[in-house]
Amino acid sequence: PRKRLGQHFLTDRNILDRIAAALAAPPGATVLEIGPGRGALTEILAERAGRLVAIELDRELVRYLVDRFKGRSNVQIVEADALAVAWGSLAGGSYYLAGNLPYYVTTPLLFRAIEEPRPERAVFVVQDEVARRAVARAGTREYGALSVNLQVWSRPFLAGHIPAGAFYPRPKVDSAILVIEKRDVVALPPTETAAFSRFTKSLFGLRRKQLGRALRELWALTPGEAEALLGRLGMDAAVRAEAIEPDQIVRLYLERPLDLSEPDERARS
Ligand code: SAM
Repeated sequence: PRKRLGQHFLTDRNILDRIAAALAAPPGATVLEIGPGRGALTEILAERAGRLVAIELDRELVRYLVDRFKGRSNVQIVEADALAVAWGSLAGGSYYLAGNLPYYVTTPLLFRAIEEPRPERAVFVVQDEVARRAVARAGTREYGALSVNLQVWSRPFLAGHIPAGAFYPRPKVDSAILVIEKRDVVALPPTETAAFSRFTKSLFGLRRKQLGRALRELWALTPGEAEALLGRLGMDAAVRAEAIEPDQIVRLYLERPLDLSEPDERARS
């Protein structure tokens, strides 16, 4: 296995069944799989999927997979970097997403999973620490941009623990099954995903600062402007950025000064 590509294979049928059960894709659904490896999870997902599209970067594994699934007309193996292809185009409509993720790109893949067109549901095997960040509540040490973005666009929850010994080769840490269920967000249009995630990353760059100060820095506001803005929202200027709930961060984002927004947004308005 290629360490560089985060190759840790699962072989335990019980665990693979738990991942497929957590995905709960209806029979006939289109399922995308990221990093099929040797096809252990692919095999199980393909039993129920109407169509299964598996995206694998390793050319040797792609060759193996094409051969392994050549008799299965509903399975398509795509040789690509999962971050470089448009999942929605591959799916061609509504889709479910699964993957025992290569750990070196886990966070960017999770951020990608909340971009449009979002999957109906996604199930990922991720390192414990990432799983804890995904579901972390405001005010905790693990709470950050990943938590906020996943919780705004989806309902993330954990569906089980996977000990390091269940993988070959054995990774250094345990993993968890993370489920992300699509959420219809009314406050934010889905076209704002990228800009909102940039805002949250800047905000958590100042996570220990009081909110009033953080906004003054981020948006070049005077103390009076920051206080007035937070007053309008009924928010406390003294609270630390890291203690603010996801829906409050959305409200803050919607109040951002227009001349700080994206250039293309300025052109539109
Ligand atoms: N699904 C298999 C399993 O559970 O046994 C393999 C999971 S392994 C943790 C991650 C897989 O992702 C490997 O097969 C690796 O080659 C592949 N991979 C790594 N980087 C990738 C990328 N950027 N795009 C697509 N696949 C990638």
